[in-house]
Amino acid sequence: RKLGIALVGLGNYATNQLAPALQETEHCYLAGIVTGTPSKAETWKRKYKIPEKNIYNYETYDQIADNPDIDIIYIVLPNGMHAEYTVRGARAKKHIISEKPMATSVADCQRMIEACKENKVKLSIGYRLHFEPHHQRVMELGQQQVYGPVQRIEAEDSFVIGGSPDRWRLDKELAGGGPLMDLGIYCVQGAIYTMGKTPVAVTAKFGEVTRPDFFDEVEQSINWQMEFADGAMANCTTSYNKNQNLLYGKAEKGWWRLQPSFGYSGIQGETSEGPMNLPNVNQQARQMDDFALCILDDREIPVPGEMGLRDVRILESIYEAARTGNRVEIKV
Ligand code: NAD
Repeated sequence: RKLGIALVGLGNYATNQLAPALQETEHCYLAGIVTGTPSKAETWKRKYKIPEKNIYNYETYDQIADNPDIDIIYIVLPNGMHAEYTVRGARAKKHIISEKPMATSVADCQRMIEACKENKVKLSIGYRLHFEPHHQRVMELGQQQVYGPVQRIEAEDSFVIGGSPDRWRLDKELAGGGPLMDLGIYCVQGAIYTMGKTPVAVTAKFGEVTRPDFFDEVEQSINWQMEFADGAMANCTTSYNKNQNLLYGKAEKGWWRLQPSFGYSGIQGETSEGPMNLPNVNQQARQMDDFALCILDDREIPVPGEMGLRDVRILESIYEAARTGNRVEIKV
């Protein structure tokens, strides 16, 4: 049986990545949508042959509880809305995928986990790169110490934000923060799955604000270090004012580099031995199929809510380190 997914929030990511990916999935399909824009509902209904009864808006959202076609709700709203829509979705007894970052506070992440536990539904985070061959290779190289213990990690995910300064990504309430919440999370993730463990402490520094009309609520850029128990260090940067993405690891007897590293396609990898020669795949299709199989086989989720919570806790520590100038210990 194919599980039915309803996408909540038909913005860029849902429109250009998730809906097309759902045309390639084997264990789940696009069964429904939740949108506040009637014209989008009309377009999607025709394009993806979605039955009228599977189309909701934010007022009728809770009625999804009565719809047996929907097994999974995928929250693709601004970060500050993930918690509310996850909790309501869990109460409707649907399994949940929340986009990253899981939420804008540790307390919200905890609420989401609780609600899913209480209602006996599974909760996963949209960490697509766990299903991507180059990143899976990095996990192997680092965690299995193929070139010996990892000593140093460099990670950057940056892009120049354009458009209007009133977009939600620059709004503290809706985004939770600036590029750290949106992009830096990939560096945190990358360093942790290279090491196979979480950092013990962080230090951080905000970058200069050169576009104050855009960055009056959230940071423009931030640089931070994550320290691991065995002495390995990760140096990370994220900015909304340049284009760069990189995940590099240096071990005792070799190194690897993904560059570009965090995109939906076009990832390239090499090691000290030569090119990785791995394929680019549809990451989102793999991610959603894996979640569907976790439900169908009642298997443990590789990217669960607890991982989302862990990461938001680390992001909060990085902000604290940047605000105070202190080395902040991470207790997870
Ligand atoms: P977007 O701005 O393109 O879409 C957001 C959607 O939410 C829009 O359809 C908008 O109409 C709707 N919305 C409902 N209430 C809103 C409100 N009060 N303010 C603003 N919009 C509102 O954003 P996006 O790029 O699609 O990002 C959505 C989520 O997906 C974010 O959490 C983001 O971090 C995540 N995302 C993840 C990836 C990934 O690779 N995993 C990539 C892009 C985005």
